[in-house]
Amino acid sequence: MSLALTNDTKLPEVVPPLTRREATDEALRCYYCYDAPCITGCPTRIDIPRFIHQIATGDLSQAARTIMDANILGATCARICPTEALCEAQCVRVQDSRAVSIGRLQRVAMDHAMEHGTPALPQLEEGRGRVAVIGAGPAGMSAAAHLARRGYAVEIFEQKEEGGGLDTYGIVSYREPMRVSLFEVETVRKLGVKFHFGRKIDALQDFRTLQEQYDAIVVAIGMGKVPKWGIPGEDLPGVYDALDLVEQTKTRPLSDITLGPHVIVVGAGNTAVDAATCAKRLGASDVSILYRRGEAAMPAYRYEYEFAKQDGVIYRWWTMPIAIEGASRVEAVRCVKTQVRTGDPSDRQSPLDIIPESEFVLPADTIILAIGQEKNAGIGQMIGAATHRGRVVVNESTYETSIKNVYAVGDCLAPFGEAMVVQAVADGKMAAQAIHERLRKTMAPQKGEKHG
Ligand SMILES: Cc1cc2nc3c(=O)[nH]c(=O)nc-3n(C[C@H](O)[C@H](O)[C@H](O)COP(=O)(O)OP(=O)(O)OC[C@H]3O[C@@H](n4cnc5c(N)ncnc54)[C@H](O)[C@@H]3O)c2cc1C
Repeated sequence: MSLALTNDTKLPEVVPPLTRREATDEALRCYYCYDAPCITGCPTRIDIPRFIHQIATGDLSQAARTIMDANILGATCARICPTEALCEAQCVRVQDSRAVSIGRLQRVAMDHAMEHGTPALPQLEEGRGRVAVIGAGPAGMSAAAHLARRGYAVEIFEQKEEGGGLDTYGIVSYREPMRVSLFEVETVRKLGVKFHFGRKIDALQDFRTLQEQYDAIVVAIGMGKVPKWGIPGEDLPGVYDALDLVEQTKTRPLSDITLGPHVIVVGAGNTAVDAATCAKRLGASDVSILYRRGEAAMPAYRYEYEFAKQDGVIYRWWTMPIAIEGASRVEAVRCVKTQVRTGDPSDRQSPLDIIPESEFVLPADTIILAIGQEKNAGIGQMIGAATHRGRVVVNESTYETSIKNVYAVGDCLAPFGEAMVVQAVADGKMAAQAIHERLRKTMAPQKGEKHG
C-alpha cells in the first residue's frame, strides 16, 4: 500500500458515509423544488434536485454524472464544502424541519463513482485550440477538465509531484482522504488532460514560451505560504507552518512526526482547527489555540469550532504571543493579554490594546502558525499583468487578466469572496467557458497545425 493510502487509514475520516438505506430516506426528504434555491447556493450550480432524485431512484451512477457535469471535483466538495453556509442554507426544508443533507448525499453518489468507475459526461460544444494551465489545484483542474471536454488540447504544468493542490497536500486526511483527490486527478487525466509534474513556471522566459506555444494560458497557482509572525524565536526547531505540518501528515510516515505533549496553535481560523485536531491525532495531550481576539471575532466556521472542542482543544481568547522561548528548540511561548480599545469586539478590524503587566508563559514543545496564507500575485507581476493589493486583477465575467489570452482563477485571485474549493472550481469553469467563447469565434487553425 502506498504511503498516502496508509496515512488515509491511520487518520480515518471523521464523518461516516450514509448507508444506502439512510441515503434513500434522506433523498426522499427533498421537495425537488421547481426553482430550487439550493442550486443558487452552489457556486458551480450543480442540479441538486436532479441528483437527489437519481439517488432516490437508486441510480447512483447517473447521480454522479449530474454532479460531475457541473463540478468535476464533486467528490472533494461532497466532503469539505461548507454546505451549511451554501446549498443547505438555501434548502426550503429548514423552515419545517432541517435542511436535506445535500453534501452527504453527494458523497454517496461520488463514492459510488470512485468504486465503480466514472460515468461518461454529457458532450459539450466542441472547440479547437491549445491551452496551458499553470497549477494543478482545484481551479486549474476544473478549467482543464472543461476545456478537454470540449476537445481542446490541454496541458497542466504543476510544481509538485502530484495534482490536486491543497486537496491533496493541505486538507487533513480525516476530512478528505488523499485517495479522493488522487481519484479526481485521474478523472481529469482520463478526459485527455496532459499533466507535467515537477514543472514550476516561475521564470519570465518559461511563460513567454507558453505564450508562443498555446492559444490561451490559465494561471491557477493558489496562494502563497503562511507568513512569518514576526516575533523572536520563530526560527527555533519545533515551530511549524500549519500547511507544512498537514503536508507532512500526508506525505511522510506519521511516526516521523514528533510534536511532544504540549502544542500551541496560533490563529483561530479553519486552518488552526485542522492543525490543532491534527496535533491531537498525532498524540499531543495538551493542545491550545491562542487568539488575540475573542470568540465573537473567530474566523473559523462554527462547526469547525465545535469539532475542535470535541477533540479536547483548549481555546485561549484575548491572548497574543510576543516571543517563543527555548535554548536549542521550542520550550515555551511568552504571551500577553489583549482587549479591544474601541469598537465592536466581533469586528476583526477593531484596534486592540495590550493589557499592562499581563505577561505570562505557557509551556510548549511545538508551536504551529496558522495565521493565513500570503497573497500570490508574484507571477502576475512577473508577466506584467495588472495587480491590486497583491492580487492579479481579472475581468469579473471572463477571468481574463490585463494580458490578452492570459486568465487567472482560484485562490491566487480570490477577489470575489472566501477561499473555497467550490469557488475555485466555479472560477475554472467560467474561465474555460470564456476561453471557449474567444477561441470558438476565431476558430483559427491550431498553433503547429498543418494547413491542408
Ligand atoms: C488548511 C486548509 C484547509 C482548507 N479547508 C477547506 C475546506 O474545508 N473547504 C473548502 O472549500 N476549502 C478549504 N480550503 C481552501 C481550499 O483548499 C482552496 O480554496 C483551494 O484549494 C484553492 O484552489 P486553487 O486551485 O486556487 O489553489 P491550490 O489548491 O493552492 O492549488 C494551486 C496549485 O498550483 C501549484 N503551483 C503554484 N505555483 C506554481 C508555479 N509557479 N508553477 C507550477 N505550479 C504552481 C501548486 O503546487 C498547487 O498544486 C482550505 C485551505 C487550507 C489551506
